[in-house]
Amino acid sequence: MAQTIIERERHTEESSAYAIAIRQLETAAHYLNLDRSLLEVLKHPRRELIVNFPVKMDDGSIRVFTGYRVHHNPARGPAKGGIRYHPEVTLDETRALAMWMTWKCAVVNIPYSGAKGGVVCDPKRLSVHELENLTRRYITEISMLIGPESDIPAPDVGTNPQVMAWIMDTYSMHKGYTVPAVVTGKPIAIGGSEGRLEATGRGVTVMAHEALKQIGSQLEGATVAIQGFGNVGSATAKLMHQAGAKVVAISDVRGGIYNPNGLNIPALLHCAGRDGCIQAYRDAEPITNEELLELPCDVLVPAALHGVITGHNAERIKARVIVEAANGPVTPDADEILDDKGVLVVPDILANAGGVIVSYFEWVQDLQAFFWEEEEVNRKLEKAMRRSYEHVAQTAEQNKVNMRMGAYIIGVKRVAEATTIRGIYP
Ligand code: NAD
Repeated sequence: MAQTIIERERHTEESSAYAIAIRQLETAAHYLNLDRSLLEVLKHPRRELIVNFPVKMDDGSIRVFTGYRVHHNPARGPAKGGIRYHPEVTLDETRALAMWMTWKCAVVNIPYSGAKGGVVCDPKRLSVHELENLTRRYITEISMLIGPESDIPAPDVGTNPQVMAWIMDTYSMHKGYTVPAVVTGKPIAIGGSEGRLEATGRGVTVMAHEALKQIGSQLEGATVAIQGFGNVGSATAKLMHQAGAKVVAISDVRGGIYNPNGLNIPALLHCAGRDGCIQAYRDAEPITNEELLELPCDVLVPAALHGVITGHNAERIKARVIVEAANGPVTPDADEILDDKGVLVVPDILANAGGVIVSYFEWVQDLQAFFWEEEEVNRKLEKAMRRSYEHVAQTAEQNKVNMRMGAYIIGVKRVAEATTIRGIYP
């Protein structure tokens, strides 16, 4: 029942994900006293490609799928952004996610602009063969946009290193030679980076550490609830557990599990790996996704989809810190309520930037054909995350705004500056 409420909530927010992104940009523009015409440029995605393409299914039938690829503002470098496979992917959501990528890359100061892509499909209902056919055809359809100098995709919800490998292979087949730098998040065997798989979760863990320090607390011994147990949620749980935090609740699309004394994360990872879901883990009580968000805990990590903490449930959130591992999990209405309650929210465009930072490292390694050890990757990642946190916290304090607006001020300012310096062509 409560699962349905989350789903319904997400539906209402989904049509307005881009509107939320615009609202956040306008607020930042106000603080920066940004020129109206420059704001107009930043509001619009540079290009949007919609593709409808046929895929041969295992039973011999042919199904038509719809996919998108959106580039936001190209001022700071090649477009970079994940590819999402989910039944509720829309152009509106893809636009919002592309814009958020632009600010994210600027906040952590890596030389990319924002992009996002997606295909409307349920990957869980496709065979491996169908998934490969779909991926290869989608990549062929958007091939006029992607390339190591123009647009570098990465994993997102519903996609994984295997999908990235098919992307790399498809693009390389068209070129006639191997092009590892066209996509990041690949398996190590074909030019992936050490540390990429856990990079977003590692970054989230560093952010939780910094946020708790800011409020005079620490990660060791802190209680943590995590919504989502995919790439980001599971790595976050593992690394938080290793750092001495007590992970008390976890959920996935089917619902959650809760044990106030702490979950045994290595055992849970084993269960989930074996059974494909967390529900087989016995030493916990079942809870709904909605209940998980409202649990008493020090750190709440939404690591699934956007629009889950809204004006309707924000008042009931009991966490002291929210680290936004997902993109857009807290709506602007909820932000105001959480601010009033004194909850420290580490915004998505900072909190989950670990993924794109190590994607950037992977791209650099691929271009140079020279690979780094995991220790070096992790050290550089943690340094970049800590430096960015400090910059955002300082900017927020100077402007008397929350961390989200602090991050927006930095990101929008850098993109506006690059756009202005480059000038308007012709
Ligand atoms: P994933 O597909 O690996 O995992 C998603 C998880 O969310 C799964 O456990 C799934 O069961 C759960 N889920 C799906 N629908 C749900 C619902 N309605 N309610 C509750 N749980 C639900 O995806 P991921 O790569 O871990 O991405 C998770 C979030 O992190 C997304 O918002 C994504 O944009 C963001 N993100 C991912 C990366 C990355 O490197 N993968 C980087 C930055 C941000």
